Amino acid sequence: MPHPPISTTSGVEVTPLCDAVGPMGPSIARPPAELFPGSGLPDEPWVLHFHCYLIRDAAGRLTLVDTGIGAADSPVSSWAPVPGMLHGELAAAGVTPGEIDTVILTHLHGDHASGTVSDGRPVFENARHVLQRAELDAARGRMLDEIVTPLKAQLHVVDGDAEVAPGIHVHATPGHTPGHQIARAGELAMTGDLVLHPVQLADPAIRYLYDEDQETAARTRAEMLAELRAERAILATAHFSEPFHRL
Ligand SMILES: [Zn+2]
Ligand SMILES: [Zn+2]
Repeated sequence: MPHPPISTTSGVEVTPLCDAVGPMGPSIARPPAELFPGSGLPDEPWVLHFHCYLIRDAAGRLTLVDTGIGAADSPVSSWAPVPGMLHGELAAAGVTPGEIDTVILTHLHGDHASGTVSDGRPVFENARHVLQRAELDAARGRMLDEIVTPLKAQLHVVDGDAEVAPGIHVHATPGHTPGHQIARAGELAMTGDLVLHPVQLADPAIRYLYDEDQETAARTRAEMLAELRAERAILATAHFSEPFHRL
């Protein structure tokens, strides 16, 4: 079932693209109490949604936030429910990959960026791909070789906060990865892995096992959520079952 879109007060439409739904595979799965220490979550498998977001502004320009888990041979095929359904979701929204003007990659984890390249070629052939400098500098292994390198000519590298398309901003939110970023469009905040589970909204200090720098991630999460709460933003999350959460 597709998740319905939402419209911002500034006339921007944001559509969740549900790339996949499933539990983590055995290579990285842990009991929720280990993934989120101190959360008191029950000992049942955590079923993640994997959301990308399509932003259509009032002038019809298209921005995609994250590109999902990718094909069957994706770098995350050992644990994510590949292949991703992004292309079917885009088609259902009436969009072809060539029409995307801007791709924002929140970070270079394989469940957020693997759909960027297929058979060694950029999928969104006409798009600039926005990435934080710190994320690019930290790229290694298959994500560097198979995803970043083929994109070279289309990368739009930013350092910190920036407006990357008319009315669309990115904000550096380090911790989960060194160059993690969130995207903003009006009152919407596409939060990537700033928050992984709803339990962290009630207590942003609850850590996530796979945050690369847990202390920085917890501090960033607390600060950014306080900011977003003060402006009554709407979160568009990557992994919650319900894509939108009004703070
Ligand atoms: Zn979903
Ligand atoms: Zn991640």
